[in-house]
Amino acid sequence: MKLQRRICAYSHAIDMIQYDGVTGAPGNTAANRGASLSVLSEDVYRMTTSEETVRLLETLDGQKEALSQKEQRMVHLLYKELRDMRKIPMEEYVAYQALVVEADDVWHTAKNTSDFPLFRPYLEKIFATQKRFAEYIEPDKDPYEHCLSQYEEGLTVGTLDHFFDTLRTQIVPLLSAVTKKPTVDDSMRHGHYPIAAQEKLSRYLMELMGLDLGHVGLAVTEHPFTTSLGSHFDVRITTHYYEEDFISSMYSVIHEGGHALYDSGSADDLAYTVLDGGTSMSIHESQSRFYENIIGRSRAFCDFLFPKLRELFPESLRTYSAEDFYRVVNKAEPSLIRTEADELTYCLHVMVRYELEKRVFAGELEVGDLPAEWNRLYRDYLGIEVPDDRRGILQDSHWAGGLIGYFPSYALGNAYGAQFLARMKETVDVDGCIAQGHFAPVNDWNRKHIWQYGQLYTPAQILDRVLGQPFDPQYYLDYLRDKYTAI
Ligand code: ZN
Repeated sequence: MKLQRRICAYSHAIDMIQYDGVTGAPGNTAANRGASLSVLSEDVYRMTTSEETVRLLETLDGQKEALSQKEQRMVHLLYKELRDMRKIPMEEYVAYQALVVEADDVWHTAKNTSDFPLFRPYLEKIFATQKRFAEYIEPDKDPYEHCLSQYEEGLTVGTLDHFFDTLRTQIVPLLSAVTKKPTVDDSMRHGHYPIAAQEKLSRYLMELMGLDLGHVGLAVTEHPFTTSLGSHFDVRITTHYYEEDFISSMYSVIHEGGHALYDSGSADDLAYTVLDGGTSMSIHESQSRFYENIIGRSRAFCDFLFPKLRELFPESLRTYSAEDFYRVVNKAEPSLIRTEADELTYCLHVMVRYELEKRVFAGELEVGDLPAEWNRLYRDYLGIEVPDDRRGILQDSHWAGGLIGYFPSYALGNAYGAQFLARMKETVDVDGCIAQGHFAPVNDWNRKHIWQYGQLYTPAQILDRVLGQPFDPQYYLDYLRDKYTAI
């Protein structure tokens, strides 16, 4: 417990420094933060891999039966991380850390100038290193499956192939039917929405969602995200405001607010242990996208919220109705950028990335051929032409940061959320509550079934416990079909 407290305290400092870097820090202070971060990271590495820690974890692992369920899980997670870390030669680990920092920098330039050849050597090294690390850690396992398991314990290529095939065969025809209909007028997204009023809306939404503003903060960054500082008692979310379009920030706040509800919903006795916070990226996304889309883009919520929006933006929304708002926030059309994609097309964007990662790892595709393959898959799945690499292969920061195997979490999260909804509706009148802006029964259900456990259970165990039946993407597909057929 003392070791975990120390790790949490170091994480608190490291995360706070990083958070400051993207929120309040002046422009030319990155090197200053880097100096402190490298000292702290080295301490953490030493602390988690020292002989003392190894002996401690070996001893505890050897006496599992004397430990409680929570303690066993803590030892399992800490010991697994330690064993994985020790299989990677120290100098390769350090070189890789330097590589991703540099790669991220080069990626920014490459994206701005749409210059894939500039980024290509870095991406080749990142893919090669990730594959090599996977082989060090789990030599008998398919290296891509190892990468997937880092974000979703136990996830296999077989499961994902089946999942994405099911999605593609039903979403592609639905999308082509939707795009044959007259397009939705989204002039609402090109108005004038003062930032001060949008800030009021953010606070209103956070309180409405049941976030405790004494423990959850909001800041402005280039890209919205959520982070916990030290424990689930201090969670920060961020958003980005656009003066001409309040909808973008509004749904960022709800999405990140969903992450924050999950993080801050861990049972208090998990604080300052490795069990604090969400169990996997996909379960995390199931929560954030549940609040953003399933709740936030539902008719019940749009009808409830619209009078408040009219009050905050009286001039710009004067000529619009709740029905207009509902249609605008559910407008579906093939687009180039994943983060701006609607609910219907979102998973197709993820599928492209999954296909490409899988084939590069299998040696079927060279990194140099990625842009052409990317463009071909966008034509195939979404029916659109990618005009340049900036809006194609270079759009996401994930690969530059070494996050390979991460993207499928987004699609799984969408699908889990829809099946959670079906289960929730057995005991909660979801639409009835949301129509009155009453989030408590929905939050209580999520807290009881998901949030309170933190990382005590694996994602598969959470699914088992919540669903009481196997995960089935058909719930998600039915949800999409019903919603978009009606619209
Ligand atoms: Zn998210």
